Amino acid sequence: MTDLRRAEVISVGTELLLGQITDTNATYICQRLAECGLPVYFRQTVGDNFQRVQEAFRLAWSRAELVVFTGGLGPTEDDLTKEAVAAALGAELVEDADSLAHLEQFFARRGRTMTANQRRQALIPRSAVAIPNRWGTAPGVFWEVDGHVVVMVPGVPREMRGMVDEFVIPELRRRGWVGEEVIRSRVLRTVGIGEGQLEEMIRDLIHTTNPTVAPLAHVGEVHLRITARGAPQDVARLLDEAEGRLRDRLGDAVYGVDNQTLDEVVGSLLRQAGLRVAVAESCTGGLVGERLTAVPGSSAYFLGGVVAYSNEAKVQLLGVPRSLLEQVGAVSAEVAEAMARGVREAFGADVGVAVTGVAGPGGGTGTKPVGRVFLALADEQGCRTVRSDFGEEPGREGVRRLASQAALNLLRRYALDRRSGG
Ligand code: ATP
Ligand code: MG
Repeated sequence: MTDLRRAEVISVGTELLLGQITDTNATYICQRLAECGLPVYFRQTVGDNFQRVQEAFRLAWSRAELVVFTGGLGPTEDDLTKEAVAAALGAELVEDADSLAHLEQFFARRGRTMTANQRRQALIPRSAVAIPNRWGTAPGVFWEVDGHVVVMVPGVPREMRGMVDEFVIPELRRRGWVGEEVIRSRVLRTVGIGEGQLEEMIRDLIHTTNPTVAPLAHVGEVHLRITARGAPQDVARLLDEAEGRLRDRLGDAVYGVDNQTLDEVVGSLLRQAGLRVAVAESCTGGLVGERLTAVPGSSAYFLGGVVAYSNEAKVQLLGVPRSLLEQVGAVSAEVAEAMARGVREAFGADVGVAVTGVAGPGGGTGTKPVGRVFLALADEQGCRTVRSDFGEEPGREGVRRLASQAALNLLRRYALDRRSGG
């Protein structure tokens, strides 16, 4: 192993400090560095200001060997990352011939003339290497200097990602800055179990150091991030073993891994089971249909839906008996069932799913509080209904989202049963 080399990421841009944009670039860079076993101890965010960029840089230089900037490389007056860093190290900026040629071509192809400001982008510190920009204009900078590496990449996310993946990481590896150790994470996504209960179930599996396991709560789902460190083959084994232990404990509550969404997973299960679905939605206003159709190829399993918000629509479009609505009200297991059966019939689907509930913030009563939702799933054999009480705390958007989540999970469980011949 080489000596420990620490990294620091500095995001430059006043819009970040104003809270106008989220610093997804730093997230991305930190992930890539972590994968290479380069620990990031600090991150900084600084506005487009010469003095403060220098201040941030000096601090980073004093406590990290690798300093990665994102932002402030463009042609405008407020793009001053290179100038500030070069000045801090007493280095001169010189015109990079390849970068200048790239800029000239870039503008020629578009039939535009290059301004002096545009040309300024080709300047890089004398002993640095320019990182080609295949996605835009400003080159990045890779600068090994005084036992440090200083990297500067643009703020435009696509350009930043391209340079980090295609140039920065390979170059760090080539120069021996990437150790043999890697840090890798895997995310297990669960649905249907609250964060507290989930933690109870796996308490003994969480208190480990390599890998570490951390629960992250999202709306209607909890993700478990498993992170392991070591040689690549050991890390793969550690992650597999931890995943196996967690799956044994949690069973079907685990619906996916890493970036898989519930929408995608439900879609592929429905496809595998050969099921065609129709949905009847009241309080979710089409959200379930929206999520089912968010997945390419959803026409294989989604026939359509009815947003039946008013009682009249439930009667006219889904055949819910008027007398039933009068007796038990729209938010009831009985009406959910009638909606599911009705929509299944209307579309000639294998499965009908229905959602009806009180999204709030108003409209709750003693017997039907805000957050109460009934779900139903009807097939050729019958119908099952589920009652969920989400409470009013999640707010209107939260209740609607949770209801759509519950509907998708109902479908998921049904498709899983069918697949295993249940
Ligand atoms: P460049 O170095 O390419 O000139 P810049 O910071 O000067 O980058 P801006 O014009 O400030 O460029 O931003 C370009 C785009 O990149 C904007 O859409 C901005 O929202 C986005 N962006 C800049 N910094 C970040 C960041 N840290 N995270 C996510 N997006 C960012
Ligand atoms: Mg900027």
